[in-house]
Amino acid sequence: MGAGRFAPSPSGELHLGNLRTAILAWLFARSTNRRFLLRIEDLDRARAGAEELQLADLRAIGLEWDGPTVRQTERTELYTAAIEELRSRDLLFECFCTRRDITEASSAPHAAPGTYPGTCRDLSASEREAKRAVRPAALRLRSDTHEFAITDVLHGRFTGIVDDFVVLRNDSVPAYNLAVVVDDGIQGIDQVVRGDDLLTSAPRQAYLAQLLGYRVPTYAHVQLALNGEGRRLAKRDGSVTLGQLAQHGTSPEAARTMILASLGLPTSSLDAALDAFDPTLLPTHPWVFTTDPNALGTGKPIGWPS
Ligand code: GLU
Repeated sequence: MGAGRFAPSPSGELHLGNLRTAILAWLFARSTNRRFLLRIEDLDRARAGAEELQLADLRAIGLEWDGPTVRQTERTELYTAAIEELRSRDLLFECFCTRRDITEASSAPHAAPGTYPGTCRDLSASEREAKRAVRPAALRLRSDTHEFAITDVLHGRFTGIVDDFVVLRNDSVPAYNLAVVVDDGIQGIDQVVRGDDLLTSAPRQAYLAQLLGYRVPTYAHVQLALNGEGRRLAKRDGSVTLGQLAQHGTSPEAARTMILASLGLPTSSLDAALDAFDPTLLPTHPWVFTTDPNALGTGKPIGWPS
C-alpha cells in the first residue's frame, strides 16, 4: 500500500491555509486507499512548542494519521547515507559561494534567474583547498540535466528547472530538497500533496529521487489560501489560527466547516467530505480568506470563501 503525507515545518502555529492543505493531503491519501503519514520537518525553522501545537490542531479538526510521527532531526543518519552514496558516485561537489555570489552571477544576461550558475563545479583541488580555508563548503548535486518533468494531478505535466542544487548546507545540515526526497523514498510515500509554492521544487526532487533509486511520487500541488490583499495567508492576518479563532468563539469544528466549504465539499464530517471527494471538482481558484469583523464574537464562522 502506498502512502501520502503532511509534512509541516514546526515554525509556528498552523493557520487555516496549512490546515486546508493537511485536510487535502488526507483526502487525497484516503480516497486512493493510501496510508496517511505525518512528518515534522524540523531541520530548520523549528520553534520550541510549535510541533505540539500543530499536532493538537490537526487532531482538533479531526485528522488522524497512521503510525508514529517522524521527525527529520531524528533521521540524520539516513540523509548522511544518501549523501555518501551520491558522493561515492561522484555526483557531488563542494561549493563555497555566498548567496550574494550566486545572485550576482545568476543575474548575468542569459542566466536563468535563481539557478546556480556552476561557479564551483569544476574547481581544481588546490582551488578547493584555498577556499576551504576561507569558508566551509556546501555540497551540491552535479546534475546532468537542466530540467525535469513531473506529473501533477492538478497541474498536469510540469517541466521545471533542475540545477546543481544544495544537498548539504555549509552548516552541515541536510538541505530540504535532499531530506524530503530521502524521507518520501524511505517512508514509501508515493503521493505528495502540498502547497503550490513548492511546485517548482518538484522537478529537482523528482530528479534526485530517481537518481537515488526511489519511485517518483504522484504530485498534487494545491492552491494556497490568500488574504484579502491576494497575498499568501499568514498568522499576522489575524483570526487564522485555531487559537486566534477560539478567542472569537469559533470552534475547531467551525474552522473545519469553513475549510470544507471552501473546497466545495460536504461540511458535516471529514468522512462525508471523503465520500464526495473528487480532485477534478476542486476549485481552480485560490481560497481568499477575509475576516469579517462584524461576525467576530457571534460564534458564527467567519471568512466564508469570497
Ligand atoms: N515542510 C514544508 C513546509 O511546511 C513542506 C514540504 C513538503 O510538503 O514537501 O512548507
